[in-house]
Amino acid sequence: MQVFVLNSGSSSVKCAVFQHEKRIFSGFIERIGFNDARVQYKDFVGNIQEDYIESVLNHHQALLVIANTLKKLQFKIEAIGHRIVHGGEKFSKPVIVNEEVKKYIRDCIVLAPLHNPYNLLGIEICEQYFPGITNVAVFDTAFHSTIPKEYAIYPLPYEYYVKYKIRKYGFHGTSHQYLMLKASELLNKSPENLKIITCHLGNGASITAIKNGKSVDTSMGFTPTAGLMMGTRCGDVDPSAIIYLQQVENISARDMEVVITKKSGLLGVSGISADMREIVFNIDKSTRAKLAFKMYCYYVKKYIASYIGILNGVDCIVFSAGVGENSPRVREEILKNMENLGIIIDKEKNFSTVGKDGIISADESQVKVMVLRTDEELMIAKITAQLAKV
Ligand code: ADP
Repeated sequence: MQVFVLNSGSSSVKCAVFQHEKRIFSGFIERIGFNDARVQYKDFVGNIQEDYIESVLNHHQALLVIANTLKKLQFKIEAIGHRIVHGGEKFSKPVIVNEEVKKYIRDCIVLAPLHNPYNLLGIEICEQYFPGITNVAVFDTAFHSTIPKEYAIYPLPYEYYVKYKIRKYGFHGTSHQYLMLKASELLNKSPENLKIITCHLGNGASITAIKNGKSVDTSMGFTPTAGLMMGTRCGDVDPSAIIYLQQVENISARDMEVVITKKSGLLGVSGISADMREIVFNIDKSTRAKLAFKMYCYYVKKYIASYIGILNGVDCIVFSAGVGENSPRVREEILKNMENLGIIIDKEKNFSTVGKDGIISADESQVKVMVLRTDEELMIAKITAQLAKV
């Protein structure tokens, strides 16, 4: 049984083939839209098979490059799973793609203009290249569909929710779900009996409060700009400050969007980089790098503490994605001085857990803290195999 997973994003396409939940092929094309796009494929043990630069001018071309490679390598694909960023209010679960599902993904383009068009194109190209094979849509928003309405609706005039569907949707749902399942497995308990806070700290970052296997709240909102401070996104900022800035700097709404999504966060505050490695490297040399580091950790701590309140306690906190998996320094800063909430870190375990799974809380800590490598593609493959019954 081979399942192909496609993640057709805004400027890159990532893909993988799984055989009985084992990754046997993976690849990506980055810098789509440029003459020097990068194409890379890895084999079943993760060794790079091909890595080259070529002109890939649009997503259509990128998807054809990948589809042709799969054909050439003669995989026996039996089902295809697609990462779809936005499922709106309709999809609370992954679904088998049909014409109605495609129409709804198209309708959600207004909510995710940088992602849903390319997600849909990925489905259409797979339908052409792999006729008769089941396509499954796995939505980033679906896991958060259980968030109670009173946590999801913004305190704006209600008619804007009704008219424009302005509300919290949340993102990274597949990753949060994967981390919840993996943490429960490690704790040898059913998710039904656990309160978990999952911190997905990558380029984009979000935190989710999970109770009895269900997302109760998450930090991203109507868009993935909300919540935590991120690499280049601002996270939560007083909305009136944004409007004031537009007025005094005479910035259009479109340009302001670039400011809050591409020029803010670690990059905007430090003036050095969006990459946490660079920030940590410069921490003693640059006061702004230090400030950016402290701010980043502060926002994560603040969300964790507020979710402990919402959940009425927590059994387990999970750190994952690029920063969460690889930066003990960030984890230590976030979790220090939280003993009164039952959280005690084992310094040695924390510093020796880099890029691998492990428990980093001290034995006497009431709350288990763990580092888990996320794998959204594997989660999509598992869901796809289940739904397509292959
Ligand atoms: P994406 O959200 O694009 O999937 P990742 O989860 O791969 O991103 O996270 C990428 C980010 O992880 C990088 O931008 C960098 O800030 C951070 N990162 C990777 N390795 C380290 C490290 N050793 N220390 C601190 N941060 C790291």
